[in-house]
Amino acid sequence: MKTKELLQKHLDSIVLQFGHHKGLSKDEAAYFYIGPPEEVAQGVWHFYNLANSITFICDGGLMQVDCNIAFRAQEVIEAVRQRTDLPFDTLAITHGHVDHCMGTYFYIEDTVKRGMPRPRVIGHKNLRWRIDKNKMLEAHRIGTDKKQFQVDFDQTDLFVYPDLEFEDRVDVTVGGEVFNIVFGHGHTEDTLWVYSPKRKVLCCGDLFQWTAANVGNPFKMQRFALENALALEEMAATGAEVLCPGHGPVIYGREEIKTCLLTAARYLHFIQDHVVACLNKGMLLEETVNSLQMPEELTNSKWLPPLYGHPVFIAKGIFKRYAGYYSGHPAELFPPDYADVGREVVNLAGGAAGVIERAGDLKAEGRLELACQLAEWLIEAEADNAEAWELYGLLFKERADTEFNMQARGAWNQAVRRAVANLERLSDKLEN
Ligand SMILES: [Zn+2]
Repeated sequence: MKTKELLQKHLDSIVLQFGHHKGLSKDEAAYFYIGPPEEVAQGVWHFYNLANSITFICDGGLMQVDCNIAFRAQEVIEAVRQRTDLPFDTLAITHGHVDHCMGTYFYIEDTVKRGMPRPRVIGHKNLRWRIDKNKMLEAHRIGTDKKQFQVDFDQTDLFVYPDLEFEDRVDVTVGGEVFNIVFGHGHTEDTLWVYSPKRKVLCCGDLFQWTAANVGNPFKMQRFALENALALEEMAATGAEVLCPGHGPVIYGREEIKTCLLTAARYLHFIQDHVVACLNKGMLLEETVNSLQMPEELTNSKWLPPLYGHPVFIAKGIFKRYAGYYSGHPAELFPPDYADVGREVVNLAGGAAGVIERAGDLKAEGRLELACQLAEWLIEAEADNAEAWELYGLLFKERADTEFNMQARGAWNQAVRRAVANLERLSDKLEN
Protein backbone atom coordinates (compact mmCIF):
# COMPACT_ATOMS: atom_id res chain seq x y z
CA MET A 1 0.00 0.00 0.00
CA LYS A 2 1.29 3.44 -0.86
CA THR A 3 2.15 5.67 2.10
CA LYS A 4 -0.64 8.15 1.38
CA GLU A 5 -3.26 5.36 1.34
CA LEU A 6 -1.82 3.86 4.51
CA LEU A 7 -2.07 7.22 6.27
CA GLN A 8 -5.59 7.81 4.94
CA LYS A 9 -6.67 4.37 6.17
CA HIS A 10 -5.33 5.28 9.61
CA LEU A 11 -7.38 8.51 9.61
CA ASP A 12 -10.51 6.71 8.41
CA SER A 13 -10.29 4.29 11.34
CA ILE A 14 -10.59 7.06 13.96
CA VAL A 15 -13.80 6.92 15.98
CA LEU A 16 -15.18 9.16 18.70
CA GLN A 17 -13.85 7.31 21.71
CA PHE A 18 -16.82 7.97 24.02
CA GLY A 19 -18.71 4.70 24.45
CA HIS A 20 -16.13 2.71 22.48
CA HIS A 21 -14.77 0.51 25.25
CA LYS A 22 -15.64 -3.05 24.28
CA GLY A 23 -14.14 -5.57 26.67
CA LEU A 24 -13.15 -2.95 29.25
CA SER A 25 -14.68 -2.73 32.70
CA LYS A 26 -16.49 0.48 33.71
CA ASP A 27 -13.43 1.57 35.66
CA GLU A 28 -11.10 0.88 32.75
CA ALA A 29 -13.34 2.73 30.31
CA ALA A 30 -13.20 5.58 32.85
CA TYR A 31 -13.61 8.99 31.18
CA PHE A 32 -15.03 7.39 28.02
CA TYR A 33 -17.60 5.16 29.74
CA ILE A 34 -21.14 5.35 28.37
CA GLY A 35 -23.71 2.84 29.64
CA PRO A 36 -27.41 2.50 30.42
CA PRO A 37 -29.08 5.04 32.75
CA GLU A 38 -28.70 4.33 36.48
CA GLU A 39 -31.13 5.13 39.28
CA VAL A 40 -28.41 6.19 41.68
CA ALA A 41 -30.75 6.96 44.59
CA GLN A 42 -34.52 6.79 44.82
CA GLY A 43 -35.87 9.12 42.11
CA VAL A 44 -32.45 10.24 40.94
CA TRP A 45 -31.46 9.19 37.43
CA HIS A 46 -27.95 9.45 36.03
CA PHE A 47 -27.76 9.48 32.24
CA TYR A 48 -24.54 8.69 30.41
CA ASN A 49 -23.67 10.49 27.23
CA LEU A 50 -20.79 12.51 25.76
CA ALA A 51 -21.17 14.28 29.09
CA ASN A 52 -23.30 12.89 31.89
CA SER A 53 -26.49 14.52 33.16
CA ILE A 54 -28.59 13.92 36.25
CA THR A 55 -32.35 14.21 36.78
CA PHE A 56 -33.78 14.51 40.30
CA ILE A 57 -37.49 13.70 40.44
CA CYS A 58 -38.88 16.10 43.02
CA ASP A 59 -42.39 16.89 44.19
CA GLY A 60 -44.12 18.35 41.12
CA GLY A 61 -41.01 19.06 39.01
CA LEU A 62 -37.54 18.02 37.97
CA MET A 63 -34.17 19.32 39.05
CA GLN A 64 -31.82 18.78 36.12
CA VAL A 65 -28.03 18.98 36.36
CA ASP A 66 -26.44 19.57 32.96
CA CYS A 67 -28.13 19.41 29.58
CA ASN A 68 -25.75 17.45 27.30
CA ILE A 69 -24.29 18.33 23.94
CA ALA A 70 -26.97 19.66 21.54
CA PHE A 71 -27.07 16.72 19.12
CA ARG A 72 -27.48 14.19 21.94
CA ALA A 73 -29.89 16.13 24.18
CA GLN A 74 -33.08 14.82 22.55
CA GLU A 75 -32.16 11.19 23.16
CA VAL A 76 -31.45 11.90 26.84
CA ILE A 77 -34.72 13.83 27.21
CA GLU A 78 -36.54 10.84 25.71
CA ALA A 79 -34.87 8.61 28.29
CA VAL A 80 -36.04 11.00 31.04
CA ARG A 81 -39.55 10.90 29.57
CA GLN A 82 -39.63 7.10 29.81
CA ARG A 83 -39.35 7.60 33.57
CA THR A 84 -41.39 10.70 34.40
CA ASP A 85 -43.82 13.21 32.90
CA LEU A 86 -43.01 15.95 35.38
CA PRO A 87 -41.83 19.25 33.86
CA PHE A 88 -38.28 20.48 34.21
CA ASP A 89 -38.38 23.07 36.98
CA THR A 90 -34.69 24.00 37.19
CA LEU A 91 -31.71 23.43 34.89
CA ALA A 92 -28.34 23.82 36.64
CA ILE A 93 -25.43 24.11 34.22
CA THR A 94 -22.15 22.94 35.77
CA HIS A 95 -20.14 25.00 33.25
CA GLY A 96 -20.25 26.43 29.76
CA HIS A 97 -18.44 23.70 27.85
CA VAL A 98 -20.64 22.63 24.96
CA ASP A 99 -20.95 19.00 26.10
CA HIS A 100 -22.72 20.22 29.27
CA CYS A 101 -24.68 23.27 28.20
CA MET A 102 -25.52 23.26 24.51
CA GLY A 103 -28.61 21.05 24.88
CA THR A 104 -30.25 23.45 27.38
CA TYR A 105 -32.50 24.84 24.64
CA PHE A 106 -34.09 21.39 24.12
CA TYR A 107 -34.84 20.91 27.83
CA ILE A 108 -36.62 24.27 27.82
CA GLU A 109 -38.49 23.38 24.64
CA ASP A 110 -39.59 20.02 26.10
CA THR A 111 -41.24 21.81 29.03
CA VAL A 112 -42.72 24.79 27.18
CA LYS A 113 -44.33 22.63 24.50
CA ARG A 114 -46.21 20.79 27.29
CA GLY A 115 -47.77 24.13 28.20
CA MET A 116 -45.69 24.38 31.38
CA PRO A 117 -43.73 27.46 32.52
CA ARG A 118 -40.21 27.84 31.15
CA PRO A 119 -37.72 26.21 33.54
CA ARG A 120 -35.20 28.50 35.21
CA VAL A 121 -31.58 28.11 34.17
CA ILE A 122 -28.96 28.46 36.90
CA GLY A 123 -25.34 29.24 36.13
CA HIS A 124 -22.36 30.81 37.80
CA LYS A 125 -22.04 34.52 37.01
CA ASN A 126 -19.09 33.74 34.71
CA LEU A 127 -21.21 31.44 32.53
CA ARG A 128 -22.57 34.50 30.69
CA TRP A 129 -19.02 35.64 30.02
CA ARG A 130 -18.03 32.15 28.82
CA ILE A 131 -20.98 31.95 26.41
CA ASP A 132 -19.91 35.31 24.93
CA LYS A 133 -16.33 34.00 24.63
CA ASN A 134 -17.62 30.83 22.92
CA LYS A 135 -19.55 32.93 20.42
CA MET A 136 -16.58 35.22 19.75
CA LEU A 137 -14.34 32.24 19.00
CA GLU A 138 -16.86 30.00 17.26
CA ALA A 139 -14.71 28.89 14.30
CA HIS A 140 -11.66 28.44 16.48
CA ARG A 141 -13.66 26.41 19.00
CA ILE A 142 -15.11 24.10 16.35
CA GLY A 143 -11.64 23.60 14.83
CA THR A 144 -10.16 22.87 18.25
CA ASP A 145 -12.85 20.31 19.06
CA LYS A 146 -11.96 18.54 15.84
CA LYS A 147 -8.30 18.45 16.86
CA GLN A 148 -9.07 17.23 20.36
CA PHE A 149 -11.72 14.64 19.58
CA GLN A 150 -10.59 14.02 15.98
CA VAL A 151 -14.09 13.96 14.53
CA ASP A 152 -16.55 16.63 13.41
CA PHE A 153 -19.33 17.58 15.82
CA ASP A 154 -22.20 18.59 13.60
CA GLN A 155 -24.25 21.04 15.67
CA THR A 156 -25.63 24.53 15.63
CA ASP A 157 -24.78 26.94 18.43
CA LEU A 158 -27.76 27.19 20.80
CA PHE A 159 -26.34 28.84 23.88
CA VAL A 160 -28.83 29.81 26.60
CA TYR A 161 -27.90 32.48 29.15
CA PRO A 162 -28.76 31.73 32.80
CA ASP A 163 -31.78 33.32 34.49
CA LEU A 164 -30.35 32.95 37.97
CA GLU A 165 -26.68 33.83 38.46
CA PHE A 166 -24.66 33.59 41.65
CA GLU A 167 -21.14 34.18 42.86
CA ASP A 168 -20.10 31.79 45.65
CA ARG A 169 -23.09 29.71 46.63
CA VAL A 170 -26.84 29.60 46.32
CA ASP A 171 -29.40 27.19 47.77
CA VAL A 172 -32.44 26.55 45.60
CA THR A 173 -35.58 24.55 46.24
CA VAL A 174 -37.41 22.36 43.77
CA GLY A 175 -40.71 20.90 44.99
CA GLY A 176 -39.73 21.93 48.52
CA GLU A 177 -36.40 20.10 48.31
CA VAL A 178 -33.16 21.98 48.90
CA PHE A 179 -30.15 21.77 46.59
CA ASN A 180 -26.81 23.40 47.40
CA ILE A 181 -25.20 24.99 44.37
CA VAL A 182 -21.58 25.95 44.97
CA PHE A 183 -18.94 27.69 42.84
CA GLY A 184 -16.08 25.28 42.17
CA HIS A 185 -13.35 27.27 40.48
CA GLY A 186 -10.70 25.29 38.61
CA HIS A 187 -11.87 23.29 35.62
CA THR A 188 -13.26 26.58 34.33
CA GLU A 189 -14.00 29.90 36.01
CA ASP A 190 -17.74 29.24 35.72
CA THR A 191 -17.90 25.75 37.25
CA LEU A 192 -20.49 24.87 39.85
CA TRP A 193 -21.26 21.69 41.71
CA VAL A 194 -24.63 20.57 43.04
CA TYR A 195 -25.34 18.67 46.24
CA SER A 196 -28.59 17.21 47.45
CA PRO A 197 -28.34 16.92 51.26
CA LYS A 198 -31.58 14.93 51.36
CA ARG A 199 -30.45 12.23 48.92
CA LYS A 200 -26.71 12.63 49.56
CA VAL A 201 -26.04 12.82 45.84
CA LEU A 202 -23.17 15.00 44.65
CA CYS A 203 -22.95 16.19 41.02
CA CYS A 204 -19.42 17.48 40.54
CA GLY A 205 -19.40 18.42 36.84
CA ASP A 206 -15.91 18.16 35.38
CA LEU A 207 -14.12 18.99 38.61
CA PHE A 208 -13.70 15.20 38.68
CA GLN A 209 -14.13 13.21 35.47
CA TRP A 210 -12.23 9.89 35.66
CA THR A 211 -9.02 11.22 34.13
CA ALA A 212 -6.03 13.19 35.28
CA ALA A 213 -7.60 16.63 35.63
CA ASN A 214 -8.16 18.48 32.41
CA VAL A 215 -6.19 21.45 33.69
CA GLY A 216 -3.54 22.86 31.37
CA ASN A 217 -5.31 21.55 28.28
CA PRO A 218 -2.86 22.39 25.45
CA PHE A 219 -5.69 23.58 23.19
CA LYS A 220 -7.66 25.64 25.67
CA MET A 221 -7.55 28.78 27.74
CA GLN A 222 -6.11 28.97 31.26
CA ARG A 223 -7.45 26.63 33.92
CA PHE A 224 -6.71 26.52 37.64
CA ALA A 225 -5.12 23.52 39.33
CA LEU A 226 -4.98 24.79 42.90
CA GLU A 227 -8.59 25.95 42.89
CA ASN A 228 -9.70 22.66 41.35
CA ALA A 229 -7.94 20.81 44.21
CA LEU A 230 -9.64 23.03 46.80
CA ALA A 231 -13.05 22.40 45.21
CA LEU A 232 -12.39 18.64 45.34
CA GLU A 233 -11.58 18.92 49.05
CA GLU A 234 -14.71 20.94 49.72
CA MET A 235 -16.81 18.33 47.93
CA ALA A 236 -15.08 15.51 49.84
CA ALA A 237 -16.38 17.10 53.05
CA THR A 238 -20.06 16.89 52.01
CA GLY A 239 -20.43 13.28 53.13
CA ALA A 240 -21.95 12.36 49.75
CA GLU A 241 -22.92 8.72 49.28
CA VAL A 242 -23.29 8.95 45.49
CA LEU A 243 -20.94 10.84 43.21
CA CYS A 244 -22.17 11.65 39.69
CA PRO A 245 -19.15 12.89 37.73
CA GLY A 246 -19.22 14.97 34.56
CA HIS A 247 -17.84 11.98 32.65
CA GLY A 248 -17.31 8.34 33.56
CA PRO A 249 -19.12 5.95 35.89
CA VAL A 250 -21.03 6.86 39.04
CA ILE A 251 -19.15 6.21 42.28
CA TYR A 252 -20.99 4.85 45.31
CA GLY A 253 -20.14 4.80 49.01
CA ARG A 254 -19.15 7.59 51.35
CA GLU A 255 -15.59 6.40 51.99
CA GLU A 256 -14.90 5.53 48.34
CA ILE A 257 -16.08 8.97 47.22
CA LYS A 258 -14.05 10.76 49.86
CA THR A 259 -10.91 8.79 48.92
CA CYS A 260 -11.49 9.41 45.22
CA LEU A 261 -11.95 13.17 45.59
CA LEU A 262 -9.04 13.58 47.99
CA THR A 263 -6.77 11.51 45.73
CA ALA A 264 -7.72 13.72 42.78
CA ALA A 265 -6.97 16.78 44.94
CA ARG A 266 -3.60 15.33 46.01
CA TYR A 267 -2.70 14.73 42.36
CA LEU A 268 -3.18 18.42 41.61
CA HIS A 269 -1.48 19.64 44.78
CA PHE A 270 1.56 17.49 43.98
CA ILE A 271 2.03 19.09 40.56
CA GLN A 272 1.17 22.56 41.83
CA ASP A 273 3.80 22.27 44.60
CA HIS A 274 6.40 20.95 42.14
CA VAL A 275 5.90 23.81 39.69
CA VAL A 276 5.89 26.44 42.43
CA ALA A 277 9.16 25.04 43.85
CA CYS A 278 10.73 25.01 40.36
CA LEU A 279 9.63 28.58 39.68
CA ASN A 280 11.13 29.74 42.93
CA LYS A 281 14.40 28.05 41.97
CA GLY A 282 14.39 29.92 38.66
CA MET A 283 13.91 26.77 36.56
CA LEU A 284 12.75 26.95 32.95
CA LEU A 285 9.53 25.44 31.63
CA GLU A 286 11.18 22.37 30.11
CA GLU A 287 13.29 21.78 33.23
CA THR A 288 10.14 22.04 35.33
CA VAL A 289 8.22 19.61 33.15
CA ASN A 290 11.05 17.14 32.65
CA SER A 291 11.84 16.94 36.37
CA LEU A 292 8.24 16.12 37.34
CA GLN A 293 8.02 12.62 38.78
CA MET A 294 4.57 11.61 39.89
CA PRO A 295 4.31 9.25 42.88
CA GLU A 296 3.22 5.76 41.81
CA GLU A 297 0.21 5.88 44.11
CA LEU A 298 -1.14 8.80 42.03
CA THR A 299 0.00 7.59 38.62
CA ASN A 300 -1.67 4.23 39.21
CA SER A 301 -4.91 5.61 40.59
CA LYS A 302 -7.84 4.03 38.73
CA TRP A 303 -9.65 7.35 38.99
CA LEU A 304 -6.96 9.42 37.29
CA PRO A 305 -5.63 7.77 34.12
CA PRO A 306 -4.03 10.32 31.75
CA LEU A 307 -6.77 9.76 29.17
CA TYR A 308 -7.67 13.41 28.67
CA GLY A 309 -5.67 15.47 31.15
CA HIS A 310 -2.00 14.61 31.61
CA PRO A 311 0.56 15.53 34.32
CA VAL A 312 2.73 17.31 31.73
CA PHE A 313 -0.22 19.41 30.55
CA ILE A 314 -1.14 20.23 34.15
CA ALA A 315 2.45 21.29 34.93
CA LYS A 316 2.61 23.45 31.80
CA GLY A 317 -0.73 25.05 32.63
CA ILE A 318 0.40 25.95 36.14
CA PHE A 319 3.73 27.29 34.86
CA LYS A 320 2.02 29.44 32.24
CA ARG A 321 -0.45 30.74 34.80
CA TYR A 322 2.25 32.12 37.08
CA ALA A 323 5.17 32.74 34.73
CA GLY A 324 3.73 33.47 31.29
CA TYR A 325 4.51 31.68 28.06
CA TYR A 326 8.21 32.56 27.86
CA SER A 327 10.27 29.39 27.50
CA GLY A 328 13.32 30.97 29.12
CA HIS A 329 15.33 30.58 25.91
CA PRO A 330 16.07 34.15 24.75
CA ALA A 331 16.36 33.11 21.09
CA GLU A 332 12.68 32.12 21.25
CA LEU A 333 11.31 35.40 22.61
CA PHE A 334 11.12 36.94 19.13
CA PRO A 335 11.38 33.59 17.34
CA PRO A 336 12.82 33.19 13.86
CA ASP A 337 10.46 31.86 11.21
CA TYR A 338 10.03 28.11 11.73
CA ALA A 339 10.68 27.41 8.04
CA ASP A 340 13.94 29.42 8.22
CA VAL A 341 15.10 27.25 11.11
CA GLY A 342 14.17 24.21 9.05
CA ARG A 343 16.19 25.39 6.06
CA GLU A 344 19.24 26.00 8.25
CA VAL A 345 18.93 22.50 9.74
CA VAL A 346 18.59 20.93 6.29
CA ASN A 347 21.60 22.88 5.04
CA LEU A 348 23.67 21.83 8.05
CA ALA A 349 22.72 18.22 7.37
CA GLY A 350 23.90 18.57 3.78
CA GLY A 351 20.38 18.27 2.33
CA ALA A 352 17.06 16.55 2.93
CA ALA A 353 18.49 13.05 2.50
CA GLY A 354 20.73 13.56 5.54
CA VAL A 355 17.77 14.66 7.69
CA ILE A 356 15.62 11.75 6.52
CA GLU A 357 18.40 9.28 7.28
CA ARG A 358 19.01 10.71 10.75
CA ALA A 359 15.28 10.74 11.53
CA GLY A 360 15.17 7.08 10.52
CA ASP A 361 18.06 6.28 12.87
CA LEU A 362 16.39 8.12 15.73
CA LYS A 363 13.15 6.26 15.11
CA ALA A 364 15.07 2.95 15.16
CA GLU A 365 16.53 3.99 18.54
CA GLY A 366 13.01 4.66 19.82
CA ARG A 367 13.62 8.41 20.06
CA LEU A 368 10.44 9.38 18.29
CA GLU A 369 10.23 12.87 19.80
CA LEU A 370 13.53 13.86 18.23
CA ALA A 371 12.75 12.11 14.93
CA CYS A 372 9.45 14.06 14.76
CA GLN A 373 11.24 17.34 15.42
CA LEU A 374 13.64 16.70 12.51
CA ALA A 375 10.75 15.74 10.25
CA GLU A 376 8.87 18.87 11.23
CA TRP A 377 11.82 21.11 10.36
CA LEU A 378 12.17 19.24 7.08
CA ILE A 379 8.58 19.71 5.91
CA GLU A 380 8.76 23.39 6.84
CA ALA A 381 11.98 23.76 4.86
CA GLU A 382 10.85 21.70 1.87
CA ALA A 383 7.07 21.88 1.59
CA ASP A 384 7.16 20.30 -1.91
CA ASN A 385 9.22 17.28 -0.92
CA ALA A 386 6.86 14.26 -0.97
CA GLU A 387 9.39 12.03 0.74
CA ALA A 388 9.56 14.52 3.61
CA TRP A 389 5.76 14.45 4.00
CA GLU A 390 5.74 10.64 3.93
CA LEU A 391 8.31 10.54 6.71
CA TYR A 392 6.37 13.16 8.69
CA GLY A 393 3.06 11.31 8.29
CA LEU A 394 4.50 7.90 9.16
CA LEU A 395 6.34 9.14 12.26
CA PHE A 396 3.25 10.83 13.67
CA LYS A 397 1.05 7.87 12.75
CA GLU A 398 3.38 5.68 14.79
CA ARG A 399 3.09 8.04 17.75
CA ALA A 400 -0.69 8.16 17.41
CA ASP A 401 -0.87 4.34 17.30
CA THR A 402 0.77 4.02 20.70
CA GLU A 403 -0.47 7.16 22.46
CA PHE A 404 -2.80 6.73 25.47
CA ASN A 405 -3.69 10.40 25.85
CA MET A 406 -6.54 11.53 23.63
CA GLN A 407 -5.29 15.09 23.21
CA ALA A 408 -1.74 14.11 22.29
CA ARG A 409 -3.23 11.63 19.84
CA GLY A 410 -5.33 14.46 18.44
CA ALA A 411 -2.17 16.50 17.77
CA TRP A 412 -0.35 13.54 16.18
CA ASN A 413 -3.36 12.76 13.99
CA GLN A 414 -3.52 16.38 12.95
CA ALA A 415 0.02 15.95 11.63
CA VAL A 416 -1.04 12.80 9.73
CA ARG A 417 -3.96 14.75 8.24
CA ARG A 418 -1.59 17.49 7.15
CA ALA A 419 0.74 14.94 5.55
CA VAL A 420 -2.12 13.36 3.57
CA ALA A 421 -3.35 16.78 2.39
CA ASN A 422 0.14 17.72 1.19
CA LEU A 423 0.77 14.36 -0.47
CA GLU A 424 -2.53 14.86 -2.32
CA ARG A 425 -1.51 18.38 -3.31
CA LEU A 426 1.82 17.13 -4.61
CA SER A 427 0.32 14.24 -6.58
CA ASP A 428 -2.21 16.66 -8.15
CA LYS A 429 0.70 18.88 -9.06
CA LEU A 430 2.49 15.96 -10.74
CA GLU A 431 -0.62 15.03 -12.72
CA ASN A 432 -1.19 18.59 -13.97
ZN1 LIG B 1 -17.15 17.76 30.00
